[in-house]
Amino acid sequence: MSTQSFFSVPLLRKLGVRLNIILLGIILFFLVSSGYGIWTLQQQSAQFKTVTQTYYDRSMLAAELSRDAELIATQAMEQSVTQRLSNIDANILQTDITRTFTVARNKLNAYAPEEVAVLSEIDRLTQPYFDQLVLFYNLIETQQRLQLRMNRLDRERQLWVAPYINFDVSADNGRFSTLVINLARSTLAMLDAQSPGLLARRKDQLEEFRSALESLTGLTQIQQQAREKLLENVRDTLILKDQLDSSRLETLSAMRKTRLFAQRLSSVCYDFYLLVKQRAESAAQQHSELIDRVTLQISAFSVAFLALIGLAYWFIHHYIVRRMDRLSLVMQQHATGLAAPIPQDGHDEITVIGRTFAQFVTANDLAHDQIQSARKAAEAANEKLRELNISLHMQSNTDDLTQIPNRRSFFEWLHPTYQKLAQQQHAFSILMIDIDWFKSYNDHYGHQAGDECLRHVAQLLRSATQQYSGMLARYGGEEFIVAVPNISFAQAQALADELLNTIVQANIAHGYTPKHHVTISVGLATLVHANQNYPIEKLISTADQSLYEAKSKGRSQVASREITHTLGSHV
Ligand code: GH3
Ligand code: MG
Ligand code: MG
Repeated sequence: MSTQSFFSVPLLRKLGVRLNIILLGIILFFLVSSGYGIWTLQQQSAQFKTVTQTYYDRSMLAAELSRDAELIATQAMEQSVTQRLSNIDANILQTDITRTFTVARNKLNAYAPEEVAVLSEIDRLTQPYFDQLVLFYNLIETQQRLQLRMNRLDRERQLWVAPYINFDVSADNGRFSTLVINLARSTLAMLDAQSPGLLARRKDQLEEFRSALESLTGLTQIQQQAREKLLENVRDTLILKDQLDSSRLETLSAMRKTRLFAQRLSSVCYDFYLLVKQRAESAAQQHSELIDRVTLQISAFSVAFLALIGLAYWFIHHYIVRRMDRLSLVMQQHATGLAAPIPQDGHDEITVIGRTFAQFVTANDLAHDQIQSARKAAEAANEKLRELNISLHMQSNTDDLTQIPNRRSFFEWLHPTYQKLAQQQHAFSILMIDIDWFKSYNDHYGHQAGDECLRHVAQLLRSATQQYSGMLARYGGEEFIVAVPNISFAQAQALADELLNTIVQANIAHGYTPKHHVTISVGLATLVHANQNYPIEKLISTADQSLYEAKSKGRSQVASREITHTLGSHV
């Protein structure tokens, strides 16, 4: 779907809907990202706890192993003395222990002042311990060397004594053999003696047998040689016994000292591992607290952010979208002619828009009213103008004096009317009327009375011709003209007579005529079939000739002519 078609969805064209979608998008993005952040932190925390736990468990194991190793080593040393291990074994034991310890020590690093103190204590104790080990093994070596010599002396003595053990004592008086055997036995007993008291007693007994053997006389040469060898052996054995005893004591003492050093060193090592464990625990605790604190901070921040977004949403919706919608609706209503109240509350830009629109509406209404009143005024003026035109037209078509149509208006009517009649070939009559002796009327009664007489005659003629569909007009001076369509010649003659009589019966005094009242003469011309080949001017002229005839015959009478001219004939 393209952008254009996306925004062509009617709902999405609304600003408020778009704004809501954007805000919703921000909230969703924030929720997802902060949720992921918290989840990652918790994962890290769990992993760190596992690692730390493993680390200090191993530390503990190492510490315990170290301590055990030291104890085992010490015990091994003890056993080496009692079970008389070989030199090679002892050297291997010594080298292995020191090498293992040095390798382990080099792996340890201090991260705090307490650790530095403990490590330097370890280093301080290490060298004396190793020196002691060397000393101890040297002593073991010495002791074992002495023991070998003692064993050799034992074997020699047994060799010297052996011939006398199954010897027949009675054969040589028995004294020498008994003493030899007793001396050998007491030497063995002396060697076996453990406590100092027993040793002293057995030495005394040995001394007795030795003196007795020395002081024995009468011996053969072989016996004398044997006695010398044996006594030398016993003497050497006694000296070696003392040396061996003191060597044993010295070794034992060195062994104890070595064991003490080892215990001291392992104890300090153990202290170090306790320290490491404590630090690991504390670090884990701190890390856990940090994670909890950060999680809490992120949660608090999230809540604050959501609250702010909510506030922003409310603000935008309440102060912008809702009011814009309302304003837009009102504007649309105004556009369709519905005068809804325009919202103008508040003091911001939307209020300014509302007020400006209200001013615009007021100005528009005012302009509309002004246009309406201007239109009314124009209509009234037009009406007046029309009336004026009618009156002007009337005035221009009406004779001022008599108030009947004038000559111009007569001809305006005559031509189209005649054209129509000519097409239908209906009858048409013209009556020319002239007041008799009017000059003398003016001369004797005055011009104003003449005017009055003219008005009177005109009114009388109008009344008399009212029932006809023709036209009466003032033709000029004291002359009038009457045109009547669609009447026969006889009817026209009757009309002429009627006009004549009307004026006579009016009896308008005129002392300067033979009849002593105002009279008229009428000249009539009737065209039986009006047609285009007979011009109206010709008919008027004929009527005028008839009038002339009436005047000539003495006035106050009608003279008439009937014209039967048809379409084919010539004038
Ligand atoms: P006739 O019988 O032959 O018609 O004689 P007459 O005197 O009537 O005819 P004439 O043509 O000699 O005189 C016409 C007179 O009508 C002359 C003129 O002063 C008078 N007249 C024409 N128009 C008016 C008008 O408007 N008012 C008045 N008072 N007199 C008019
Ligand atoms: Mg005249
Ligand atoms: Mg006249």
